[in-house]
Amino acid sequence: MESLECPKTEKCPIFNGILKGTTYTEVYKKQFCLAGEAGRNKCKRFLVATKVGKCPPNILPNSMKSVDEIIEEMKKNGDI
Ligand code: SF4
Repeated sequence: MESLECPKTEKCPIFNGILKGTTYTEVYKKQFCLAGEAGRNKCKRFLVATKVGKCPPNILPNSMKSVDEIIEEMKKNGDI
């Protein structure tokens, strides 16, 4: 059976970093991280990391930026 939990939870700031324990953390978890493939496929963090192998820690799952915009910024900042 498909796991409902995102495979990136261990290293994700939502669970183990700067986004842990904020007001919205539980909402994010429910909506994105623990909602199966459909949930994580809406998560900007997951989509960026799937494409380029990582995602800046301050990007929210529901970031207004597009995946391409986030990746462009990472390139500009020398992150990738
Ligand atoms: S925020 Fe996104 S990448 Fe992080 S655990 Fe949740 S679904 Fe996965």
